[in-house]
Amino acid sequence: MKLFSYLNKAFNGFPSSSKLLLVFSLSGGGLVAYSESQSTSATNNTELERLANKKKVVVLGTGWASASFLKDLDISSYDVRVVSPRNYFAFTPLLPSVTCGTVEARSIVEPIRNIVKKKNGEIQFWEAECTKIDAAKKKVFCRSSIEANLVGKKEFSLDYDYLVIATGAEVNTFNTPGVVEYCHFLKEVEDAQKIRASVIDCFEKAILPELTEEERRINLHFVIVGGGPTGVEFAAELHDFVYEDLVKLYPMVRDLVSITVIQSGDHILNTYDSRISSFAETKFARDGIDVCTGCRVLSVTDKNVNMKIKSTGEYVPVPHGMVVWSTGVTTRPVVKDFMEQIGQGKRRVLATDEWLRVKGYEDVYAIGDCATIDQRKVMEDIAAIFKAADKNNSGTLNVEEFQDMIDDILIRYPQVDLHLQSEHLSSVTDLLKDPEGNARKEIDIEGFKLALSHVDSQLKSLPATAQVAAQQGAYLSRCFNRRELCKTQPEGPRRFQGQGRHEFMPFRYKHFGQFAPLGGEQAAAELPGDWVSVGRSTQWLWYSVYASKQVSWRTRVLVVFDWTRRFIFGRDSSGI
Ligand code: FAD
Ligand code: MG
Repeated sequence: MKLFSYLNKAFNGFPSSSKLLLVFSLSGGGLVAYSESQSTSATNNTELERLANKKKVVVLGTGWASASFLKDLDISSYDVRVVSPRNYFAFTPLLPSVTCGTVEARSIVEPIRNIVKKKNGEIQFWEAECTKIDAAKKKVFCRSSIEANLVGKKEFSLDYDYLVIATGAEVNTFNTPGVVEYCHFLKEVEDAQKIRASVIDCFEKAILPELTEEERRINLHFVIVGGGPTGVEFAAELHDFVYEDLVKLYPMVRDLVSITVIQSGDHILNTYDSRISSFAETKFARDGIDVCTGCRVLSVTDKNVNMKIKSTGEYVPVPHGMVVWSTGVTTRPVVKDFMEQIGQGKRRVLATDEWLRVKGYEDVYAIGDCATIDQRKVMEDIAAIFKAADKNNSGTLNVEEFQDMIDDILIRYPQVDLHLQSEHLSSVTDLLKDPEGNARKEIDIEGFKLALSHVDSQLKSLPATAQVAAQQGAYLSRCFNRRELCKTQPEGPRRFQGQGRHEFMPFRYKHFGQFAPLGGEQAAAELPGDWVSVGRSTQWLWYSVYASKQVSWRTRVLVVFDWTRRFIFGRDSSGI
């Protein structure tokens, strides 16, 4: 009895284990071992059966799009496998801060296994790169990206019922000679870490004893190719790092440091509101950051960036100590290969429909930077729209018929809404007015075509940003979660080509604005509703938005801690 109460106490928190252990010790083990193994195999069988009934979803990538897809995905009816050469998610908007040690690399990454932990099952993850997608056989081929001492086979393949391609994009060098060999990129966490070490190296090189002043100057000339948001933010970070921290440690070379931004367009930040790009240009001029606009880089060597001034045709070699190449992104080879297989070889980016399905492949989705939505044009469907709207088959549309259909038109073709906004039309029925602006009771097909003839010019592809990628991931997980429900209760607009309604609403991007940190505790922001905000208060807004957008409490705390550390102690300048 003593033994019983002891065991009972010891296993108080684990009632089932205590019972099991007790019976096991009393019966000598055999019987329980048998019944335990039976129940395990029964559980295993039901688990296997359950898995076999689940649709296999393969997700490629662990970036913004896939992390947001996986986070909200209900895996009770899916067997999800994730493949990516990176076993973590990286908060890319803070990468420029990592280049100068304002934020530590580990503060902006979260292991993907933490993100995909689910209460009702398991998502499998393999650290590997997808090397080929075979859409005909519904298979992807993968290779482990771990090079060192891998015992066993590196390659494997996976079957899928649904494939989600979210492999992002790679740096676009425009095949410029010397870029791969002599430039830094700023795309991955490793790139940011290399830049950080290289900046310090430039200072250490510049203070070597027997250098001429000119040689010191060249070692401390930092060139950034590309005046987009990443290039500009890096230039600003570097400027702060140099003048807030490094010049205190390397005072003798204080006046020899220079930063140049080379931009092929006429302005830096040219995708932003013009007020922001001119604010950035003025601030950079004040800070002594050289901005060379209208210049094209033709090649890079270990010594020079060779550029051509577009207006004069003059060739100019720019000696450098370090170059960062930040001129945009292009399609990855695995996606390019897939595009060739499916007849999209001539396109620049993989095209999907408005439901993020790769065109012609209902079971393959592509989200984030690796794809673009090919919005259907109104003019392609104009006859079908007219026919569907003309309920009384009169060959004309009256106001009621038009109003009856307009909600579906606005959902299916968002460009119509954009057109109404750009033309300042208060009501869609304004579209029915004749060219002189007089209201009409009815409109025929020619009049209808004329009324909508300009709407397709409003079509714009979405930018390659984290905001778009995350929204697409969240949208797609909602569609996956509601797949069965929407089969019987479709929620989308009516099909103009075909019968019934679309199962889901098409993806619609919501722009929440964008920031451009410009250094010296100043930032610019483009906010919804055509608002522009610049200055110190905007920098504080930036801090709060980026802290709140962190994927976990752990990274949020680490990032805020890093910012505080930087305010108190400055950035660390050791070359590690
Ligand atoms: P990514 O986030 O790039 O993820 C792609 C994933 O696919 C990665 O996990 C990668 O390892 C994996 N992968 C690659 N190849 C394969 C393969 N063959 N097989 C399997 N997996 C593969 N956007 C903003 O909105 N705001 C910002 O402030 C901002 N700042 C930025 C700053 C920098 C320095 C950079 C580089 C980007 C910034 N962006 C910003 C853009 C944003 O990071 C991208 O638009 C976003 O990462 C796109 O998400 P994604 O999921 O498509 O691709
Ligand atoms: Mg009619």
